[in-house]
Amino acid sequence: MTTTHEAGWAHASGALRGPSWLREPSDPNALVDRLWSATAEKTDGVLSVGGVALTDLVAAHGSPAYVLDEVDFRARAGAFRDAFADYDVYYAGKAFLCTTTARWVDEEGLCLDVCTGGELAVAERAGFPMHRVLFHGNNKSEAELRRAVRLGVGRVVVDSFQEIERLAAVASESGRTTRVLVRVTPGVEAHTHEYIATAHEDQKFGFSITAGDALEAVRRVGSAPGLGLRGLHCHIGSQIFDSSGFEVAAKRVLALHARVADELGVTLPEMDLGGGFGIAYTTQDDPSEPGRLAAEMTAIVAHECRALGVAAPRLSIEPGRAVVGPSMCTVYEVGTVKQVALDGGVTRTYVSVDGGMSDNIRTALYDADYSCTLASRASSAAPVLSRVVGKHCEAGDVVVKDEFLPGDLAPGDLVAVPGTGAYCRSMASNYNHTLRPPVVAVRDGVARVVVRRETEDDLLVTDVGPEIRTEQE
Ligand SMILES: *Cc1c(COP(=O)(O)O)cnc(C)c1O
Repeated sequence: MTTTHEAGWAHASGALRGPSWLREPSDPNALVDRLWSATAEKTDGVLSVGGVALTDLVAAHGSPAYVLDEVDFRARAGAFRDAFADYDVYYAGKAFLCTTTARWVDEEGLCLDVCTGGELAVAERAGFPMHRVLFHGNNKSEAELRRAVRLGVGRVVVDSFQEIERLAAVASESGRTTRVLVRVTPGVEAHTHEYIATAHEDQKFGFSITAGDALEAVRRVGSAPGLGLRGLHCHIGSQIFDSSGFEVAAKRVLALHARVADELGVTLPEMDLGGGFGIAYTTQDDPSEPGRLAAEMTAIVAHECRALGVAAPRLSIEPGRAVVGPSMCTVYEVGTVKQVALDGGVTRTYVSVDGGMSDNIRTALYDADYSCTLASRASSAAPVLSRVVGKHCEAGDVVVKDEFLPGDLAPGDLVAVPGTGAYCRSMASNYNHTLRPPVVAVRDGVARVVVRRETEDDLLVTDVGPEIRTEQE
């Protein structure tokens, strides 16, 4: 966390202004609906999700807590399934995975994308149909590959020449054929409103198209015993708002797809275009709907295939954030409210909550923006530009950099942050020996713990203690 000690947004000076996109709300009690999950609403200032008042949820399950809106999760999964009906839609488990959500993913007809043995273990525990699991990652161990092959995982995405050999050895020893996609780097890095296209890519994932490695990898997979070559795979970034980056990537990957047909005489039946579809964290974000993305991506691929004179492969996508991100919010309890005098005679209001960078690292790690609202009561106090911070021993421990909150916010109030479903619980840590919060699923007025809160026993269970010594030789 060295970067968080550098002067940056955490060390503001001069007049206290929020970012230009942040408008002072006329009513700080109101929810900005599109930032919240489908069933979130306020009644007399009390936020409820899935028909459960967060005041009751915290009374029963404590604070902080991740609140998972089941109806919303299923609706978003279903929206991708329907919009991309001709595709295989893999939910990217790394965004958030537990056995309950794995079941929902299965029930909603999506496939599942995992990238470690641990994620695979959750899928196995959930009874997820293994032929609909895809396993990617740049350094899968032999043990992980052996497990994937034994379980009959539907697709393994190979990422290096060494891995092709490793997987071929494991697969032939098992006597089964494992279906394989080849991860390629199309030289496109997409993020929100921009993408950067380069010829070469300086990153750890995949085989370079331009250097010829990708074609060679396809050749080797095609001739390896135990491997069934299915197609090419790419993933160009995250929090992408439109299809322009996908267009450049799809063109480059399809050009390779056509070369494979030409030079190797192999028509690859599939192609995976990865994930990265963006969501709205704050009012400045305006992501595309799945229906629009699907129409655009399908048109791009069809157009390009016609131009290349090849049949369009069956396509896959791998949305993670866009399914689970908006389905969860995090509820915290306010512990202190502090006015900090800055230069120029202005003050910043610091609201400290009972969690922080251990349950949401994205603000510190990516300089991400979030919003929040007072969740436990209505207030008629004027809105005050505030910064919501955690309880960790780190100045960069910020949850929400800038938000207008009622000026009478006080200890004991609950504050809820929307859009915390993706890469918050899944990246959560025990920093400062904090206990990771529970995930509480809500639906039709019922709250159900699907991942329980950690206990101090959980924290200490791996600490074998000073009594155990090994003899030195
Ligand atoms: C991270 C990742 C995803 C999911 O990305 P989102 O931004 O959550 O949609 C999909 N595929 C691959 C290969 C990834 O690494």
